[in-house]
Amino acid sequence: MEDCLFCKIVVGSVPSEKVFENDYVLAFKDINPVAPVHVLIIPKIHIQDTNEISDKNVLYISEIYKSVEEIASICGVKEKGYRLVCNCGNDGGQMVHHLHFHLLGGKKLRDKVV
Ligand code: 5GP
Ligand code: ZN
Repeated sequence: MEDCLFCKIVVGSVPSEKVFENDYVLAFKDINPVAPVHVLIIPKIHIQDTNEISDKNVLYISEIYKSVEEIASICGVKEKGYRLVCNCGNDGGQMVHHLHFHLLGGKKLRDKVV
């Protein structure tokens, strides 16, 4: 996906502040944080959104979930807690169409939707 911003971040042609990386997962700081800790966790292949998750790419998704504990620990929020948010599509408010999970924390989070 040549014109996908997050694919460019994966290959390094767009810079990012990396927090964690393995063969499947990249986590980096959100450029416009809405909480003291605001990290984006993405698969290192292009998956547009949750509608695109399938048997072909589910390994990337399990690796994302497996990495959350370590990323939360690196960010210093593992014990106090945090929120994972994944927006999908227009009504979900997704702006960047490369699947990503927002890890938010570092303060008592308000604005609970559910
Ligand atoms: P969405 O609204 O799609 O769920 O979230 C996209 C997120 O990507 C937003 O929180 C936005 O601040 C972040 N973002 C957009 N462009 C960049 C960028 O170039 N670098 C980084 N690190 N984050 C970005
Ligand atoms: Zn992409």
